[in-house]
Amino acid sequence: MLENAPILSYKHAGLTVEGYSRAAVQTYWRVPELKVCFDLGAHPWDFMSTPNCFISHTHLDHVAALPAYVARRRMMKMEPPTVYIPEYALDDVRRLLLIMQRLDRGRQTCNLVGVTAGQEIELSREHVVTVFEATHTIPAVGYVVWERRNKLKEEYHGLPGDKIRDLRLSGVAVTHEIRTPIVAYTGDTSPAGLDNYPPAFEAKILITEMSFVRAKHRREKIHKFGHMHLDDFIERADRFKNELIICGHFSTRYGTEEIRRVVERKLPENLRSRVKLWL
Ligand SMILES: [Zn+2]
Ligand SMILES: [Zn+2]
Repeated sequence: MLENAPILSYKHAGLTVEGYSRAAVQTYWRVPELKVCFDLGAHPWDFMSTPNCFISHTHLDHVAALPAYVARRRMMKMEPPTVYIPEYALDDVRRLLLIMQRLDRGRQTCNLVGVTAGQEIELSREHVVTVFEATHTIPAVGYVVWERRNKLKEEYHGLPGDKIRDLRLSGVAVTHEIRTPIVAYTGDTSPAGLDNYPPAFEAKILITEMSFVRAKHRREKIHKFGHMHLDDFIERADRFKNELIICGHFSTRYGTEEIRRVVERKLPENLRSRVKLWL
């Protein structure tokens, strides 16, 4: 194992969340079981094996390592990755990769896909990803990974297996799809990004940002810059249905101790047990 970038790791409900996130420094996440990364502010060597990456927005602390990710997979003879990027940035990112290709003299081969809010992406037979609009200083999106299962329709419950099989073979749709949001990633956003997309509150795991915690940091200003404050979470304590809420992207103004102290003192009981500070 080569340790070129810090990685914190946490397991929940059969999923591992790995990554690192500090505002203006670097943000990158991955859930290896789902074969997805979110953002590429830096690129830990070990993240290379993950073939799909979803970019929230093109601030440098979220996208700087994109050419490195693409080049490393090629160098290690892996399939070109698929990188989902907000539609507005697609042409510029393509140009960026071409320039890196010229400078580095190595092909930047990847499958670049532009996304817009409302879109749905088929990840595998079991998983789909939806795209929602975040509210930030530049256009930004968030993503939700859903698990989908086919369940027998109510009216066929209790029917013997061979009868169900016959119905299915005759073309009757005996099942319907059930979807469960399992991981939501907001990227950088003000609270409106969360508020406008209820599945983010329902996903088993929510990965989000709490850039500011200090009481004297004014919330109107923070929202204007497209970020969230600890008080925004407290205000919404009853809306979060998530089993786990991972908060990262803390401002560099704060040290680890201050963040822990302030958050532990102020978070209500029903959030405290579910909030994991990414420090
Ligand atoms: Zn950021
Ligand atoms: Zn940003």
